[in-house]
Amino acid sequence: MLRRFFSYYRPYRGLFILDFACAILSGILELGFPMAVKLFVDRLLLSQEWLLILLASAALLVVYAINTGLMAVVTYWGHMLGINIETDMRRAAFNHLQKLSFSYFDNQKTGHIVGRLTKDLEEIGEVAHHGPEDLFIALMTFAGALVLMFSVNWQLALITAIVVPLTAWVTSHFGSRMTDNFRRLFSRVGDFNTRIEENVGGIRVVQAFANEQHERTLFEQDNQNYRRVKLEAYKLMAASSSLSYMSMRLTQMVVMIAGSYFVLSGELTAGGFIGFLLLVGVFFRPVEKINSVIETYPKGIAGFRRFTELIDTEPDIADAPDAVDIQHLRGEIAYDDVSFGYDPKKPVLKDVNLTIRAGETIAFVGPSGAGKTTICSLLPRFYEIGSGRITIDGMDIRKMTKVSLRQQIGIVQQDVFLFGGTIRDNITYGRLGASEKEIVEAARRARLEEMLAGLPDGLDTMIGERGVKLSGGQKQRVAIARMFLKNPPILILDEATSALDTETERAIQRSLGELSQGRTTLIIAHRLATIQSADRIVVIDGSGIIEQGTHQDLIARQGAYNRLHAAQVGGP
Ligand code: ADP
Ligand code: MG
Repeated sequence: MLRRFFSYYRPYRGLFILDFACAILSGILELGFPMAVKLFVDRLLLSQEWLLILLASAALLVVYAINTGLMAVVTYWGHMLGINIETDMRRAAFNHLQKLSFSYFDNQKTGHIVGRLTKDLEEIGEVAHHGPEDLFIALMTFAGALVLMFSVNWQLALITAIVVPLTAWVTSHFGSRMTDNFRRLFSRVGDFNTRIEENVGGIRVVQAFANEQHERTLFEQDNQNYRRVKLEAYKLMAASSSLSYMSMRLTQMVVMIAGSYFVLSGELTAGGFIGFLLLVGVFFRPVEKINSVIETYPKGIAGFRRFTELIDTEPDIADAPDAVDIQHLRGEIAYDDVSFGYDPKKPVLKDVNLTIRAGETIAFVGPSGAGKTTICSLLPRFYEIGSGRITIDGMDIRKMTKVSLRQQIGIVQQDVFLFGGTIRDNITYGRLGASEKEIVEAARRARLEEMLAGLPDGLDTMIGERGVKLSGGQKQRVAIARMFLKNPPILILDEATSALDTETERAIQRSLGELSQGRTTLIIAHRLATIQSADRIVVIDGSGIIEQGTHQDLIARQGAYNRLHAAQVGGP
């Protein structure tokens, strides 16, 4: 894992070396300071030469100035290293997310994904910068101070060194518990991200049901779960810092007593004693930082694990190595013995055989949950079929690149998803880079003109998040305009008008009729009246196709379609 982490440093070798070198230099200067004080007291002070004392002070000033520069470099360029790595990882995670298929998102919570790409990565960025540097400097300071302490007085140095194994134990013991803790903590953050996301996204439903109290209770559970995990972290921190603080101060006390004895017995100079005490301070500095150490590293490790989990999720639908970019399809579709289930143990479709001629309009009817949407989702390869094959113009869709395949298929659904920009942005989504003329033409063909004329900003009207400022019919028209612009040879209309009132439905039907001209069209409709003129109607039940033919054929047949039809005509 460590090697993998460091692979992200590769593009920034120069920055890393600069940062590291400056940090080490600065560490060395810090180490030199106690020794300078020792010399100062023992030699200069006793020589009583003011000129020398002033010169020495000036020299020290230069050293400090250099150190200031070094620290500034570390703060700025070092953080740049961290943020660069964070940015790269975030891009990698987002790009990977674009490759994953519906089945992944079906089982994920948005808030957790958001958490992985925001909070987790921020922690990794921190470690990426401070991690190797702090660790190295801590070790260097530790070792350097130890050597210098031994050079001043080995007995005192030995006493002080007792802290080393203790610190090592505290760090490893608490460090691994903290990693575990932060993993849970990040997951809790994901939980309440999800809760907030769902609540805000569904706030209209929440308020319509007056379920605010219920929502508050649910949120408070997540809030408390987070608090509980965080408190565990603080408990660990309190224990580790008390342990290290206590052992440091005890050591210091023993050093004071023993040092005083050595000074009085003439084995140690006063300057040596002062210098040694300052060295002990330098030596303990990494130990004092133990809390930030057992916080930063485990956070970074936990975050990096969650990052790699995402990056390592294999997309279950990927382009075959020999997949080809298809150009223009005629739109002749064939399902050969296609079986599929979202859960392989629970098949939704069994041995479906269906041939659709280019340009044909075919309608799917059947009870809710029969698998109509599923049949259509298999065509753009949103889900991978279990067995059999689907071909378009005689070519297996698995032999085509996903992107080129999906460019050939347009889908208009019941719950239109619009992005929170302008009407123009949403229409242009059909074909990015379309000209103004093409956009206006698409809007005209979707019969959006009348509505646009009534808006002060026309095409540039902001439509709110997910298009909340538009009516259902208006949203559907924007979706249709988007499809005119995309102009695919194959069209899927999945209950496109089911949510609309009859009058709007009729108006939209006309636009859809125009849209389906010259394209192979798969229609799913709840109201049978809207699909009577289809070239062919296919009736589906729980496992596959049970009847097909024209409206007249199927009525004459007195089968399932006839029963569905009778129920709707005779019903309210
Ligand atoms: P229809 O469009 O005919 O109403 P669907 O094709 O949407 O039916 O659903 C067929 C079956 O597959 C249903 O039992 C439904 O619960 C199940 N299903 C639909 N979508 C998913 C999904 N994303 N994950 C798991 N099961 C699903
Ligand atoms: Mg459906």
